[in-house]
Amino acid sequence: MLASLSKNLVLIPMKSWFDNKLTALDKENNNLDQVDWARVIPYILLHLSCLFVISVGFSWTAFIVCVASYLIRMFAITAFYHRYFSHKSFKTNRFVQFFFGFIGTAATQRGPLWWAAHHRHHHKHSDQDDDRHSPNKGFWKSHMLWFLNKKNFPTNYERVKDLTKFKELLWLDRFDILPPIIYAFLMLMLGYLLQAYSPEEGVTAWQILIWGYFISTILLGHVTYSINSIAHCWGSKRFNTGDDSRNNFLLALLTLGEGWHNNHHKFPASAKQGIYWWELDFSYYALWSMKQLGLVWDIKKHDPAQVKKELSS
Ligand SMILES: [Zn+2]
Ligand SMILES: [Zn+2]
Repeated sequence: MLASLSKNLVLIPMKSWFDNKLTALDKENNNLDQVDWARVIPYILLHLSCLFVISVGFSWTAFIVCVASYLIRMFAITAFYHRYFSHKSFKTNRFVQFFFGFIGTAATQRGPLWWAAHHRHHHKHSDQDDDRHSPNKGFWKSHMLWFLNKKNFPTNYERVKDLTKFKELLWLDRFDILPPIIYAFLMLMLGYLLQAYSPEEGVTAWQILIWGYFISTILLGHVTYSINSIAHCWGSKRFNTGDDSRNNFLLALLTLGEGWHNNHHKFPASAKQGIYWWELDFSYYALWSMKQLGLVWDIKKHDPAQVKKELSS
């Protein structure tokens, strides 16, 4: 009795931290809308680990590593997890697809198939009853509680059939904790190098790990979640999209272009979310640069004539 209880309560959830295949949806479970506490322990530890900043301290080098680590992974999330895996708004080769899929997974927001399946669901049901992260259900639910719920842990592979044909993406999705561990380890290695080559500033390996992975990941996560929460509450509405999506300049800056969320809900297939020149969209500029290098192609964009027509009607 005790052995089976500890297996169900401790061992299976712990194994599922490392292998998502064990995160099967228990259809008999009536508490699907509750936080899966055993499953979210690593997520809680991720937040608590930031407190080690008290002992490792600050250096400008660590701060620059934190910002760079944020930017590269934010680009992987916005340009690849969102515009590529979820919306197919451009094409690329299998290597680039895996590389940015890996960097995106290192952002610690689950695997690319899980992310894309939930996001496609959001566009289908935006701010309606079945939207898993509409602020209509409460701000914190839309921000983070939704993905901590038992109901939302499994990946709906039916929604991402176009992606399941790539074995390496299925692998990333199944073992989505591995890229963050590898990434954190690389940060520690970078820290040892910086400690050895520029000791005068007081840089230590552990300081680079805390700033470059833990603090950077928490900032990156909460800014990304803000698109589901804040960008469906605060900002301007240019288009009538039948949902509560907004354009928010500050969020656009912090997310490299995702803050033009009302534009995006109007033209979800477009890789360019800023419509006018002042609507800064750094992910799009980076994608344009990658296109010049032949790394991506067939970038889809909204039709300016269609924008004009929508705004005059
Ligand atoms: Zn939305
Ligand atoms: Zn979208």
